[in-house]
Amino acid sequence: MSHAPRLDRARTRMETVGVDVLLLSVGADLPYLTGYEAMPLERLTMLVLPRDGEATLVVPELEAPRVVPEPDAFTIRPWSETEDPIAIVAALAGRPGRVAIGDRTWARFVLALQEALPGATFGPGRDVVGALRLRKDAAEVLALRAAAHAVDAVAAEMRTRPFAGRTELDVHRELVDRMLEHGHQRPNFAIVASGPNGASPHHDPAARVIGDGDVVLCDFGGTMAGYCSDITRMFVVGEPTAEIADAYAVLQLAQEEAFLAATVGTPCEAVDAAARSVIADAGFGPNFMHRTGHGIGVEEHEDPYIVAGNATPLEPGFAFSIEPGIYLRGRFGLRLEDIVVAAESGPDRLNCASRDLAVVG
Ligand code: ZN
Ligand code: ZN
Ligand code: ZN
Repeated sequence: MSHAPRLDRARTRMETVGVDVLLLSVGADLPYLTGYEAMPLERLTMLVLPRDGEATLVVPELEAPRVVPEPDAFTIRPWSETEDPIAIVAALAGRPGRVAIGDRTWARFVLALQEALPGATFGPGRDVVGALRLRKDAAEVLALRAAAHAVDAVAAEMRTRPFAGRTELDVHRELVDRMLEHGHQRPNFAIVASGPNGASPHHDPAARVIGDGDVVLCDFGGTMAGYCSDITRMFVVGEPTAEIADAYAVLQLAQEEAFLAATVGTPCEAVDAAARSVIADAGFGPNFMHRTGHGIGVEEHEDPYIVAGNATPLEPGFAFSIEPGIYLRGRFGLRLEDIVVAAESGPDRLNCASRDLAVVG
């Protein structure tokens, strides 16, 4: 795919927000606009995109072979070990009044560029690229759906697997392997939190052995063809107690209500409130201490955040997680997560793995 259309959309956006040149280094904005992911090295890689001019990818000479050339989109400018990449970038940037620089650019490069471009004011790159990345086009939704279906398959397979007697780390490794088997290029994380560990939402899988009656939270995702997956499913070893089953029913209803609320035009915070009110009404309000969701795309967490205080109305193409949770300290934790895309035809849930509490051995 040529990235020329995306670069043109970035130029249009630069026009709108009054940015003269966009500078992108490490982080997801660069691959989003060029297909090239910079290594986080002390040698500078930087895309120089002037509003009215050719885009140039300044790249260390030894990294240049990794770049897939797109002559219609950008020129490659390899720099040798004895050249000064800051001077090269400054020359390509011209005499900009306003520079937008990638949010993850190392401070040493930002400081050097500020010195090399004394007349310029610097602002965040997300002012330009964030607005583009927020609205996924049809090809991006397709990629997100494919990644979602891959982890759906993993979740379905796990429903038939034994959990009792295994460590969290062992199940973690299985999730990672299965994500790779199902086409992910890069597993990004696989949380396995059993019994009381489940009450810590970002628990690091450890040596705890999963036992009879344990509730097990599995939250995993990775990157497939440049786009991320992220799913949480719940397992219980043996028949759940009434307390677990009742809390899970509340959670499932909360997740469904938030999903139904995720229509175009609805503020992000209203989606959060839809899940939160169900959980609060059941008496678990304080046990749901995190936001309902996060945007997803080329990054695992990106705009829009489904959180109180975010009044941004959902637009077609917004992709985000809906993942309410109920956490009971010292006992167990529950979370249920799907990726949803806002569409004119209604909320589009990308995950289709069973959302029922899986009873496993
Ligand atoms: Zn499989
Ligand atoms: Zn997750
Ligand atoms: Zn998530």
